[in-house]
Amino acid sequence: MAVARPCVGAHVSTAGGLVHAVDRAVDIGAHCVQIFVSAPQQWRQTQHKDADVAAFREGLASRGLAPVFIHAVYLLNLASPNEELRRRSVEVLLSHLRVADQIGAAGVIFHPGSHTGSGDEAGEQAIVNSLRFAMRQHDGPAGLLLETTAGSKGIIGGTFEQLARLIERLGGGARLQVCLDTAHVFEAGYDCITADGVNRMLTRFDETVGLSRLTCVHANDSKTPFASHVDRHANIGEGHIGRAGFWHLLHDPTIAARPLVLEVPGFTGEGPDRPNVDLLRAIAAAPSPEVAQGLPLLVTGDDA
Ligand SMILES: [Zn+2]
Ligand SMILES: [Zn+2]
Repeated sequence: MAVARPCVGAHVSTAGGLVHAVDRAVDIGAHCVQIFVSAPQQWRQTQHKDADVAAFREGLASRGLAPVFIHAVYLLNLASPNEELRRRSVEVLLSHLRVADQIGAAGVIFHPGSHTGSGDEAGEQAIVNSLRFAMRQHDGPAGLLLETTAGSKGIIGGTFEQLARLIERLGGGARLQVCLDTAHVFEAGYDCITADGVNRMLTRFDETVGLSRLTCVHANDSKTPFASHVDRHANIGEGHIGRAGFWHLLHDPTIAARPLVLEVPGFTGEGPDRPNVDLLRAIAAAPSPEVAQGLPLLVTGDDA
């Protein structure tokens, strides 16, 4: 089976300034990058100095790192029944979109939101209103990527139908895209660990959202079992998707053609690392799931 070598990358820290994310990405062998542009647990937005932005862009270009995505802060909740929270969420999203344009990011990835008890319909309506407003205020090139979720209680985005409905209600513009998280879809109840399962999942995605909107894939194993609706990421091969599951995912030409971004705990607990990046690439290059199972894991560090 001839499958192109996928673009494998990771979420990396910007501690100390945006430009430091370039070195961290290079250190672990990432080819595409996801970053936070402000502290993920805070509303306060970091002001990035022009020199830092310029150095970051220069670093990306010289190291050939692309694409770049921004992941929105965790506090963001466009579905909240609380108007003040929603207002702040839209403001932060707009701030992220402006930074995305500044740094040349392909888009901002965000979780659609949690209705926190107001119900799916109210939650979806709140998201539509929030995004409609944001899209009127922002007309730059950065995409808005709704991320698939594990579909936990109150969390919007656990089914492709729901994401498709949001996109449709927003007019279906090309800026509205989707990031498929392998752990989340597995936890939400989409079998993606066999050839048939991956095929069925992507056919369903195509019939609802449409594959042309699939801009990014988060490559994470799942600590929780199939259809658990509990969002917990695991290192590649250490979760319920497993190496064979990733072999099937990576040998689907649709998945293999998308940027794959790791958001895993890391084999030494310090976030996405080289062993995860290398293993994902090796699984993609393996001729069979059996070979993928037997690949060595090259964990560096004494505590590994
Ligand atoms: Zn996410
Ligand atoms: Zn994710």
